[in-house]
Formats: sequence, structure tokens, C-alpha cells
Amino acid sequence: MDVILFGPPGAGKGTQAKLLVETLAIPQISTGDMMRAERASGSALGKKFDEYMNQGLLVPDDLVLELFAQRLRRPDAAEGAIFDGFPRTVPQAEALDAKLGELGRRVDRVIVLEVPLDLIIERVTGRRVCLSCGQTYHVRYSPPPPSGECSSCGANDVVQRADDTEEKVRTRDAGYHRETLPILAHYEPTGVVAKIDGVGTIEEITARVLGALQRS
Ligand code: ADP
Ligand code: ADP
Ligand code: ZN
Repeated sequence: MDVILFGPPGAGKGTQAKLLVETLAIPQISTGDMMRAERASGSALGKKFDEYMNQGLLVPDDLVLELFAQRLRRPDAAEGAIFDGFPRTVPQAEALDAKLGELGRRVDRVIVLEVPLDLIIERVTGRRVCLSCGQTYHVRYSPPPPSGECSSCGANDVVQRADDTEEKVRTRDAGYHRETLPILAHYEPTGVVAKIDGVGTIEEITARVLGALQRS
């Protein structure tokens, strides 16, 4: 099964994707996590990502698509994947459809997490993330371990992202409306889009996402 978790920055896509990995037995493909890992490695490609990510701007499609194509080829994604933060532009959606098509697959579901902007700002400004494994925490709702060690991978790499300020979230949210939301019009005719209320506890949202997947 190939599922896109869709929604504004901070909607809870990564949190839900990580919980769904076990239930659905397919990997999460998060271009954001992959780009942060690339930046942490200090590579030339990572430095290119830096310029855009630090400003809250989208990374150009050609760079994203290269990264995505390599990831999709890995054996763990042979039966499907949970796409989180990808696609973010209509050309990225078209490229995803084409790559899946080559494999005899298609996007089976697009789950849209709907969250109002004031709550997004609260979620993003309180977010902490493990740079080693992508595990996400929130200072109020799911605090990181006091030892500083990630509960998921044990690394001492839990940080606040430089782009998780209120100002940058507003920039990213505007970019979402301008460049990412048009993707829904691309998928709506195929009947795969399911919108769910993204306000509630993490467990409540997981139940809603699973409900929407069962209806497919
Ligand atoms: P996205 O991947 O869509 O940008 P995240 O999954 O990283 O969003 O979530 C943003 C922040 O909000 C994180 O700090 C996460 O721990 C927190 N969060 C996610 N879902 C919920 C929820 N249902 N209730 C409270 N906090 C949440
Ligand atoms: P969030 O869900 O909070 O927006 P992500 O980790 O998905 O965070 O993305 C962080 C940043 O990485 C984006 O603001 C953008 O600069 C870059 N990025 C991630 N995925 C993509 C993508 N598919 N296309 C373009 N830029 C991306
Ligand atoms: Zn970790």
C-alpha cells in the first residue's frame, strides 16, 4: 500500500507516520528527515539543502526527486511506503505517480491532517527532533527524555530545529497553501483523498487515520 500523509508543517504527519510503520509493515519515507540527515553529514548536497531549509523555503524539485528516487529503490519499500512531507509540489506528485507506475503501483490513499494555524504554531514551536533517527518530541505533549538521549535510537542528538520558529512556520504555512495544497486537486479525481480532523491526542488521530485507511 502506498499512502501519502498530507497536511501543513506541524500537522503531525511524522508522528503518525512513525506509528503506522509497524501496523502497516511498510517504511516511512520522509524527505525532511532524509535532508536533515544529509545536512548533518556535512556533504555538499546537504549544504545545498541548508540554504532553502533554513529560510523555510522548499528545496528545488530536481534535488528532492533525486533523493526520493534513490530511497524508493531500497528493498524495504518494495511493498509500499508511507510518504511524509513528500510530494510537496504538483511536479513532485507527478514524479511519484510515474515512479510508482513503473512498479505497477499507485497512490492508494492521501490522508489530509487538518489543523488550524494557531495550533500548528504551538506544535511546531514546542517540537524537538532527534537528528539521528527523526523521532519527534514536544516539550508539553511528549517531552524528550531528561537525559537528552533519544528514546528511540539512544543518540544524544535531540534538538530544536532552526526553522521551527513562529516566523518561519508562518512562511512555511504560506508556502504550503501556495505550492502544496494544489496537489489535492491532482489526486481528488481518483477518489483517494480522505480529510481528517488533526486536532486531538496523538492516539485519537492514529485511530482516525486507520479508519480512513480501512475505508479505502
Ligand atoms: P509534521 O511532520 O506534520 O511537521 P510532527 O509529527 O513533527 O508534524 O508534529 C509537530 C509537533 O507536534 C511535534 O512536536 C509533535 O510531537 C507534536 N504533535 C504531533 N501530533 C500531536 C497531537 N495530536 N497532539 C499534540 N502534539 C502533537
Ligand atoms: P515540516 O513537516 O515541519 O514542514 P519537513 O521535515 O517535512 O518539516 O521539511 C522541512 C524542510 O525541508 C522544508 O521546509 C523544506 O525546506 C525541506 N523539504 C522537505 N521535504 C521537501 C520536499 N518534498 N520538497 C521540497 N522541500 C522539502
Ligand atoms: Zn533518535
